[in-house]
Formats: sequence, structure tokens, C-alpha cells
Amino acid sequence: MEKNSKYTSVIIPAAGRGKRMGSQISKQYLDIGGKPILVHTIEKFDQSPLIHEIIVVTSKEEMEYFKNEIQLKYIFNKALKIVPGGKERQESVYNGLKKISSETEIVLIHDGARPFVSLEEIGKSVEGARRYGACVIGVKVKDTIKICNEEGYIVSTPKREELWAVQTPQSFQTSIILEAHKKAEEDNFLGTDDATLVERLGYSIKILEGNYQNIKITTPEDLTIGEAILRKRA
Ligand code: C5P
Repeated sequence: MEKNSKYTSVIIPAAGRGKRMGSQISKQYLDIGGKPILVHTIEKFDQSPLIHEIIVVTSKEEMEYFKNEIQLKYIFNKALKIVPGGKERQESVYNGLKKISSETEIVLIHDGARPFVSLEEIGKSVEGARRYGACVIGVKVKDTIKICNEEGYIVSTPKREELWAVQTPQSFQTSIILEAHKKAEEDNFLGTDDATLVERLGYSIKILEGNYQNIKITTPEDLTIGEAILRKRA
């Protein structure tokens, strides 16, 4: 473990069903390159010397499955804390946050379904959270993005140079992300990522440029892309 580093935890939400995948088992347990997606993801944080604690959030129904199919079959150097998830991703992350060590100063949140995160992105995230208090990994959008109305007509076209597709890790000083989740729960506010909860409290969040390969496995074609990424890396 790195000397003088701030105690850093990662929360890996992996409690989603993944309806868009249309498979029997949840998407994070599907194989790519002969290993479940979630194992690829956990391995990256297990390998990083900057991460001290790994918290995996699984659905209540899949806790047994996780123990039998992941923990008993794969060896990790770091102990994993397993926490039951909630109905929405936000609730799953908050459940994980409630279980971080009292020593934790930096929290990374990373989707279980993003197995191609690199050690470089993990390093950038930890450094960014130390420096800016809050940061997210993202990439510039390649397509032109349109704002549309409910009838399906274009309303406006934001300038592409200003648009980023944000990924995870999203990384924060502990007090900031705890405050943001607590406030969101009190206000009944539901966001699609963790940064949104922090933005609404007025904190500034730094975007750090990541990699287009850090995809979230969502639909069946992402599995094909994932296999290709693994082949290229091998
Ligand atoms: O559904 P989506 O692809 O946005 O999910 C992103 C990540 O959040 C996935 O790794 C998924 O397992 C997780 N998630 C969760 N709890 C939920 C819904 C999603 O941990 N209730």
C-alpha cells in the first residue's frame, strides 16, 4: 500500500438486474473472456495500491450467488465487504457509503458493469478527489447531441465542444459525498449518477479525461465490443 496515501475506499454498485440485457442472470455476472464482468471490475481495484477498501453492493437475492460464484471461485488480495443494494442505483450506492470505514477520506464509486477501467483512471480519480474534492472520469462526446421534446421533435442542439459523456469512477472526499446522498434522500431527489447529487449542493466537480474503452456493459452488443477490447488488450 502506498505510504502517506489517504485511506481510500471504492464502492462498486452491482445490484442492478440489467433488464436491457435480456438475459436470465444479471448482467454483471455474464462472462467476458471467460470471467464474470464483475470479477474483471473487482480485480482492477484489487490490483491498485491506492485502494484500501473494496465494498461490493449486490442485490439481497444475489448475495448467496455472489458468495458461491465469485468469492469462492476467485482469489482477491483484499477482503471484500458485501452490502445489500436497493431498488435504484442511488440507494445501492448510499447503502455502500453507510458501510465505509471510519478512516475513509476518499471514496471512489465505480459501476460493477464497467470492467475495462484502467489502473491509470483509478490513479487519476484518487489524485483528482484529493486535489479538487470531487471529480469524474469522462470522455468528449463524438456524436452531435439533440435536446428533444416529448413528441420527438428537436428543441435545440447544445454545442458539442461543451458536452462530455461521464463514466465512473466518480470520486469524492468522504464528507462531500455523504452530505450529497443524505440531502438527496431527504429531498426525495433521484439522480442518474453521483455527481448530480453533489452538483445540486453547489460544489464544483472536475472532469478528468478518460478512455472510450471504459464502457458500461448494458445491451448484448456491448458484450461483443467487450470481447474485442479484451482481445486487443491481450
Ligand atoms: O442500470 P445501470 O446500467 O445504470 O447500472 C449501473 C450500475 O449500478 C450497475 O453496475 C448496476 O448493477 C448498479 N445498480 C445497483 N443497484 C440498482 C441498479 C443498478 O447497484 N438498483
